Amino acid sequence: MLRTPPNPLPLLLAAVAAALSAVPATPAEDAADLVLAHGVFYPVTPPEPVEGSLAVRDGAIVYLGPAAGAGPLVGPETEVIELAGRAVTPGLIDAHSHLAGLGAALEQVDLVGTASYEEVVERIAAGAAELPPSAWLRGRGWDQNDWPVEEFPTHAALSAAVPDHPVWVNRIDGHAALLNARAMAELGIAAATPDPPGGRFLRDAEGRPTGVLIDNAMDVAGARLPAPDAATLRRRIAAAAGYAAARGLTAVTDMGVDAPTIAAYRELAVAGELPIRAALFLTDSAPLLEQWFAAGPEIDPEGRLTIRGVKLYADGALGSRGAALVEPYADDPGNLGLLTASGDHLAEAAARARDAGFQVGIHAIGDRGNVVALDAIERALRAGRDGSEPPRLDDSRFRVEHAQVMRLQDLRRMARLGVIASMQPTHATSDMPWAPDRLGPGRLDGAYAWRKVLDAGGLLALGSDFPVEAVDPLLGIYAAVTRQDLEGRPEGGWLPEERLTREEALAGFTLFAAHSLFLDHLVGTLAPGRRADLVVFDRDPMQVPAAEIPSVRVDLTLVDGRVVHRREAAP
Ligand SMILES: [Zn+2]
Repeated sequence: MLRTPPNPLPLLLAAVAAALSAVPATPAEDAADLVLAHGVFYPVTPPEPVEGSLAVRDGAIVYLGPAAGAGPLVGPETEVIELAGRAVTPGLIDAHSHLAGLGAALEQVDLVGTASYEEVVERIAAGAAELPPSAWLRGRGWDQNDWPVEEFPTHAALSAAVPDHPVWVNRIDGHAALLNARAMAELGIAAATPDPPGGRFLRDAEGRPTGVLIDNAMDVAGARLPAPDAATLRRRIAAAAGYAAARGLTAVTDMGVDAPTIAAYRELAVAGELPIRAALFLTDSAPLLEQWFAAGPEIDPEGRLTIRGVKLYADGALGSRGAALVEPYADDPGNLGLLTASGDHLAEAAARARDAGFQVGIHAIGDRGNVVALDAIERALRAGRDGSEPPRLDDSRFRVEHAQVMRLQDLRRMARLGVIASMQPTHATSDMPWAPDRLGPGRLDGAYAWRKVLDAGGLLALGSDFPVEAVDPLLGIYAAVTRQDLEGRPEGGWLPEERLTREEALAGFTLFAAHSLFLDHLVGTLAPGRRADLVVFDRDPMQVPAAEIPSVRVDLTLVDGRVVHRREAAP
């Protein structure tokens, strides 16, 4: 599919419509495997809902229309799910996420709010009982200032309660950690271990380590932590995929994977233990890219596991003032942030990836980071052409990840080059308390500017960046349409002119996310011929008052026509 500026959106929609009209509207004689009866279906294209029924055969949608039309498709073997008016959307897609990272985060024991050291030990022991023998237990969030005795704990009670798993749990601020005896033994922490510069191993009267590590002692010990083994990676990815499916996600990304993580995905996919679609972007490591550029991408015709992306990094993050800005930080004069790769590296890697059949997503948060990212993409699009020729606009689907703070001319350039803006609505509502301090008033015009991306004719694919933000895509849709936090602040929304309509937000989490992953020929809309990736909600997220969107629940999630999540007690 070839798209050209200035406005690719109508062309994309027209191409989708043309593809759909090529599919016969009348069902074949064969009975359906599954009928979802009497629902309100949001096909995305068109945006208006269809009241009626949807039928599935061999994992694909074969009918969507008035309920009466599905009757002839019901045979003796057909499963019929009565929706009783419930809303159905295409399976939701997270265009920028970290599934394996979510799996690691889900295994972390949450110690926030513990009222005593005894409670910390109890929670850790309960978490250890869920893990295989000898597996590392990680956690975070303890704070001795919340306890009756406001002193650092010592490992004895923890080591007695959890002798067989090494334990490492961070204090709430991340500047101290508590380890049990097994962890200290595995990491070689003993009385003879010297304190590093800028760090301490707290010790008892005899000089033995108490299990509490401060600052650089955490770095020294952390460098010796074992990399997760294959079984651990598989366990985490599978758990994270189930967690995502329960929130209505039928396709996710893993932005920046290494070789062991890729191997774990492949093993899960072969074993049929990956319930949702996953699209992997390789991390920017020279040996990994050499190997993959020589071998070429892995494009699953069924779209279950796709390995065709490369993640590059232009700059850091705004919160830590690592995002690269054109003018200094408003709250840190003289600080321009950090570029994490040279423009030459980005341009060369982007061109090589494209030539090897890979798609490129460049992390760019600050306006200077985005200039460098777009320069690199433009150079890749001009590679092999002389300077007077225009860039080659093909179907490479270059992406800028986050596109968080942009100059207005760069928003227009992004659209002109056909570059997809891969943005995360909840980043805006998480960052809004402090982003204005970092940026000052002038730069807010192009900050988290979803509306301006669309108005410029750009493509907007939405995601969450989980586990940095919450997984639930309904929180993303809520943030997109309100620009408010979950308490409804600020009134009217932050920079409310950038709000999206619900239809635009849904398209961002379905069709345009699918497009951004080369999956739009399979999923992202509800229509005969498309794979039956669907979500059934208990209330209609397109109709409830906006403040209620976050509390809408997912009753059913289907991938390829198979139920991968069913809410307990759902009808
Ligand atoms: Zn990310």
